[in-house]
Amino acid sequence: MSQQTKFVLSERDIPEKWYNIAADMPNKPLPPLHPGTHQPIGPEALAPLFPMELIKQEVSSDPWVEIPEEVREIYKIWRPTPLFRAHRLEKMLDTPAKIYYKYEGVSPAGSHKPNTAVPQAYYNMKEGVKRITTETGAGQWGSALAFACNLFGLECEIYMVRISYDQKPYRKLAMNTWGATVYASPSERTHAGRQILTQDPDSPGSLGIAISEAVEVAATQEETKYALGSVLNHVLLHQTVVGQEAIQQMEMAGDFPDIVIAPFGGGSNFAGLSFPFLRHKLVDGKKLRAIAVEPASCPKLTRGVFRYDFGDTVGMTPLLPMYTLGHTFVPAKIHAGGLRYHGAGVLVSQLLRDGIIEAVAADQLETFEAGILFAKAEGIIPAPEANHAVAQAIREAQIAKEEGVSKTILFNLCGHGNFDMAAYEAYFTGRLQKHELTQAEIDAAVALIDTPAIPA
Ligand SMILES: *Cc1c(COP(=O)(O)O)cnc(C)c1O
Repeated sequence: MSQQTKFVLSERDIPEKWYNIAADMPNKPLPPLHPGTHQPIGPEALAPLFPMELIKQEVSSDPWVEIPEEVREIYKIWRPTPLFRAHRLEKMLDTPAKIYYKYEGVSPAGSHKPNTAVPQAYYNMKEGVKRITTETGAGQWGSALAFACNLFGLECEIYMVRISYDQKPYRKLAMNTWGATVYASPSERTHAGRQILTQDPDSPGSLGIAISEAVEVAATQEETKYALGSVLNHVLLHQTVVGQEAIQQMEMAGDFPDIVIAPFGGGSNFAGLSFPFLRHKLVDGKKLRAIAVEPASCPKLTRGVFRYDFGDTVGMTPLLPMYTLGHTFVPAKIHAGGLRYHGAGVLVSQLLRDGIIEAVAADQLETFEAGILFAKAEGIIPAPEANHAVAQAIREAQIAKEEGVSKTILFNLCGHGNFDMAAYEAYFTGRLQKHELTQAEIDAAVALIDTPAIPA
C-alpha cells in the first residue's frame, strides 16, 4: 500500500500574518523591569537597541501581525517547508503512534532562525540602521542574521561563543561568506569581554557573555542596533509561520497532533511550532500537549526558578520574568550549543507556570542515540539541538507502544546537523559524556540572582 510521506504546500500558502499568543493567554506576562531601578519600563527604554517596529511587536497584544510583502518574498526562498510522516522511524520503533516532523533545515542557514532574521533585518533597514550586532552560540543564529543582513545591505558584527568558535569553524566561514565579521567571545573589544577575561582567561564563553558584548557595542555606536535570535516576544512571533504551515499540512494528512514537541534553547522554535496549535487549545478548547525538551545540563525549565533575571551575564539588559538558572550560570560544554542559555522566553515561561505547556530534560547521550536512529530511518542528520525533540518523540512513541494506543506526535526538526559532525564524531569516539547537574550546583547558581521573588 502506498502511503503519503511528504506534505508540501505552495508559495501562496505561506502565512500572511504572524500569530501573537499574548492575545489569548489567560495570564498576561509580567512587564520587564529596569535593570537599575527595578521599576517597570516602557517601550521607549528599548529604543537604543531595537527599531521601533520590533518594539511595537514586542509589547503588542493584537492576535495577528501582518507580514510585510518584502519579507514574504524572501520567505519564498525556502518556505513553505515540508512536513513529513516518519513511516520508517515508526516501523523501526514498532509503535502504533503516528510520528510527523516539520523540517526547518531547508532554509539557507539550515535552521528555523532565518524566519526571524529576515524580518529583523528588514525593519532595521526600513528605519535607517547601518549595522547590526549580535551573539551566536552554535553559529546558527549568526549565520541566519549574516544571510539576512546581506539581503538588505546591512553590516553584521557577530560575537560567537568561544567554545563554538573553536569547534565549528565552518559556521564561522558561512557567516563570512554572507559578509559578516565574526569575533570569538569573550573578546578584548568590549568592557564586558575584558571583564570576563580578567576573571577567567580561558573562559569558554556563554550566550549570556556574548549578548553582553553585542549589546554594549550596539548601545555605544551610532547607527548600530542589536538583534536577538530567541527569547524575546517578537522573535517567537516571527517563528509562528512554522506552526501555521504545519496546521495546514496536518489537515492535508487528515490528522491533528495529540503531542507537539520541540527542543528548547530560549523558546523560539518551540513557540514557532506550538503556539499556532496552542491557539486551538486556548481558544477552541482542543486537547493538546506541547512539550519543550531541554538538555539535562542546562535545565532552566525543569529545575530552574521563576524569577526576574537578566538576559545577559553582566546585567545590562532589562529584567525579564522567566524560568532561569541565574544569569551568571555557565553551562557545561555540551555540543548542542544552541541550547546553552541560562533563561527562557517570557511567553513560554508564563505558559509553563500556568500549566499550559510541559517541559522535560534529556541527557546528551540519549539525544545522540535518538538522532542517529532517526538519521538511519529517515535520512536527514539532525542538528544536535533537534536531537532533543527526536529523543522525546521516541519516548512518547515507546509509551504509546507499551500502552497499546495510537497517538499522533508532531515534532520540530528545526535544523540539520551537516555543520555539526564534530559533535557526532565526539559521540562515536566515546568522548560525549552523560552530564547532570547536582542540586548543589543549581542552588549555587540560583542563589546569585539578586531580584526579589515573584509572589505565586
Ligand atoms: C538556535 C537553535 C535552537 C535553540 O533556540 P530556540 O530559540 O529555543 O529555538 C534549537 N535548534 C536549532 C537548530 C537552533 O538553531
